[in-house]
Amino acid sequence: MTERIPCIREGCANTILPATAVRTGGYCMPCKQEMEREAQQKYIEANRRNVNLYEGMTDPVEILKIMHTRQAHDPLIRYVPYEESQEQVYLSLSMEQQALMIDYAMQLIRAGDDDTGKDILVYLVCYHDISLSAQILELLEREIYYPVILYKSASAEVRDQLIQQVNTDDENRNNLLLMLAYIGDEVVVRQFQQWRQSPPHWAVQLHVAPEHHTTEAGWELTNEGQRRDLFTTPSYALYKVIENTGTDDTLIGDPMSMLLPSANNCKWCGRKLTTLIELDVGHPALQDVAWNSERLRVQTCVICSCYGVVYMEMDSAGELCWSAHNVMPMGADDLDPDDYAQLAPDAGRQFRIAIASRQAYHASEWAMEPSLSQIGGHPGWVQDAEYPNCPCCSSRMRAVGQLDWSEVEEYGDGMYYMFICEPCQMTAVSYQQS
Ligand SMILES: [Zn+2]
Ligand SMILES: [Zn+2]
Ligand SMILES: [Zn+2]
Repeated sequence: MTERIPCIREGCANTILPATAVRTGGYCMPCKQEMEREAQQKYIEANRRNVNLYEGMTDPVEILKIMHTRQAHDPLIRYVPYEESQEQVYLSLSMEQQALMIDYAMQLIRAGDDDTGKDILVYLVCYHDISLSAQILELLEREIYYPVILYKSASAEVRDQLIQQVNTDDENRNNLLLMLAYIGDEVVVRQFQQWRQSPPHWAVQLHVAPEHHTTEAGWELTNEGQRRDLFTTPSYALYKVIENTGTDDTLIGDPMSMLLPSANNCKWCGRKLTTLIELDVGHPALQDVAWNSERLRVQTCVICSCYGVVYMEMDSAGELCWSAHNVMPMGADDLDPDDYAQLAPDAGRQFRIAIASRQAYHASEWAMEPSLSQIGGHPGWVQDAEYPNCPCCSSRMRAVGQLDWSEVEEYGDGMYYMFICEPCQMTAVSYQQS
């Protein structure tokens, strides 16, 4: 039997056959492989170069085209990111440049790159509310039924065609109903009302009644058959500044009272409630909101609202109080508040509210990673649209804002949605995560 010999690498206890030692120079295979990896890594670090694809570029259309092009992975190249985010570049587009981006997206779709083409169109619809009425027929011919928000601006002709198609197209019915919900004009509202009054034969195949698809597009059909919007407008971004970099520009944002500990305690877990936002009702972001006190304050228990909706009401003195209607969610009594880090008392210090409003649907496609935190605007649902009912009057409550928790805490996750019922002066907070 051949005698095994020790690997010559310091600290290695492996033994190898003499034949292996001849091939590896005396090292065991794991050591040899590790040394090769290290050498490779050293080579990459010594030879990697920065490549700036945006060098000297000023045209946002060209910049976006590059941003949407996947670069082949090369370990020896480090691509320098553009100085602005993709969202910022999109927002800077002029009308003419938006039109060029539409053309580019359609070229990509025609060439078979549907995914990139659709992404570009979604950004243009969300950030600029552009009309795609000239493109929608072609999208339909190419059997593109998703994302449904692309169909918001469909012509009356296309709308009527979609209403017909809902009756016959079993496969795409769900998306067709959502497309109609986004179109949401008088004809669509009447059609949903008719479907509610006399449910069509295909309604039994749906998970929910046809008219319940409208909440995904931010409105509901009232008992009287009218459209009622479920979110406030306009939309103002809430964003976080990076302190001490000189980028805190008061030309684009105002300080805002956010994330302060409240004097009230959570009746479920006993911890202090948090005032997510506090805003003067005279602020233009709340022009659509009828509120009886001088400031709109939305409070919740940031732990318990992950398990169920937390309602707050106003007492006769105008003070916020825990609503008697709150129903402890399953499992909330088992929560150990000590498992959760206390929110830093200055967690809201870096937040600002934008000076200028943005498009109402700016943040509505959560998965496209827009800046999500906002007052007003269509919610960016992580899961299905879910507007809580007011426990006093049972109406659906209107969304008044949302907070992206990944911006609040280092390892934060998920989204807090804020709602109001104006007749009852009730607020609610719910939570979704992926
Ligand atoms: Zn070894
Ligand atoms: Zn709690
Ligand atoms: Zn109510």
